Amino acid sequence: MMLHIGIDDTDSPNGMCTTYLGALLYKEISRLAEPLDLPKLIRLNPNVPYKTRGNGAVAMSFEVDEEDAPKIKRLVLEMVEKLADLTHENTNPGVVFLEGEVPEELTNFTYKAIWEHVSIEEAEKVAKDVNVEIHKFKCGRGIVGALAAIGHPLNVFTYELLAYRKRELWGTPRKVNRESVFEMDKKFYPFTYDNVDWEKRSVLITPHGKDPVLVGIRGIDENKVLLAFESLVFEEPIEFYQVFKTNQNTDDHLRFKRIKDLKNYDSVMIRAKVVKSYWEKGRHVFIKVSDGTGELRVAAYEPTKGFRRYVRMLIEGDEIIAAGGVKEFEGELTLNLEKFYPVKLAKRIEYRKPKCPKCGGTMKSKGDYLKCKKCGYKMPKVLIPIEVPRKLQKKIYEVPPDARRHLSRPLVLPLGEEKILEGINL
Ligand code: ATP
Repeated sequence: MMLHIGIDDTDSPNGMCTTYLGALLYKEISRLAEPLDLPKLIRLNPNVPYKTRGNGAVAMSFEVDEEDAPKIKRLVLEMVEKLADLTHENTNPGVVFLEGEVPEELTNFTYKAIWEHVSIEEAEKVAKDVNVEIHKFKCGRGIVGALAAIGHPLNVFTYELLAYRKRELWGTPRKVNRESVFEMDKKFYPFTYDNVDWEKRSVLITPHGKDPVLVGIRGIDENKVLLAFESLVFEEPIEFYQVFKTNQNTDDHLRFKRIKDLKNYDSVMIRAKVVKSYWEKGRHVFIKVSDGTGELRVAAYEPTKGFRRYVRMLIEGDEIIAAGGVKEFEGELTLNLEKFYPVKLAKRIEYRKPKCPKCGGTMKSKGDYLKCKKCGYKMPKVLIPIEVPRKLQKKIYEVPPDARRHLSRPLVLPLGEEKILEGINL
């Protein structure tokens, strides 16, 4: 029979990582049963407040002899109990088991957990309805992600190879040869991506926390991901590695909504008109938009760096498709921009003083009059409207890689523009 296993919320900022536990489990269970595919790393709504880092959950599916199922389930529960960081107040693991086909109702729940905020009670209800066995540790919030991970069909996916560190090295600086990462990027980009940031000369494949991940290599081709990994020079031993199939970089979290329907924590795309051009607060840049059902503040926060330049170029009357996460900021719902596309650019009109009609000299404003600096000719102040070319292009603008959400599809990938451009015909 088919057995699906989902786990989530086993880690804390002090250590551990649900993918590590998932990869260990996948290895162990593969000795007892036939894996039906690679393990899945499913990213859920990036705006929920409980996440440790990237709101990821793990699921895996096996063909299991019926009499082995109880043993496998016991193994999963024992390993979660042993390895999860249960001492941390925000670690509330959930483990779920489903036997047989994945029901549609569970997949619907998955998308709810990717787009919105869902409660533990909702998760429990779905589990009951579709006959999923759930195990909660502490408050058991992890069942939300665990169920959603099982329910994801992964019709569109990418890969991530995760290599893990020896336990005694957790918390120490990661030793991966920098130059080898830049060389790897030259060879494999964009089949593997987010390897480095050439502008900042920084390495992106190594995380910085106390978790067990040494490197994560993302790509659209499994073989290239493996070859890229093999090409790297490691200056510390690797415990083991695992390739995951994942919904990362698929824009899974984006769907169109109207402003009046937005709720805190939603991940959305909106099509709206700019009604107030940019203003700044600290290093954050804001604009205001309206889609006829309501107004919304849109933000490009400081970490989006150079992306803010393009947001500053938007003017009143521009029509844009904007994608991002909705969160309350200073008591107001605000869209935290991930990408935007100018559908229609308004004409930018500037009013300039005419040249002196008598001598061609430069005119100076004097109250209601213009006065020629050269010959002193005076005339009523009539300014000439001039259309100034817009610097923004008709293309999608995205935040830089280190500010990008795990779910956001980089434009360099095939179909990177597809989701946003659905909005053109709205
Ligand atoms: P890591 O990336 O290292 O795995 P994390 O960022 O995934 O860590 P978790 O520790 O898994 O963070 O915490 C996220 C918690 O939020 C989990 O308990 C998960 O079940 C729950 N959760 C996920 N999606 C939603 C959602 N849409 N609504 C409510 N809760 C959610």
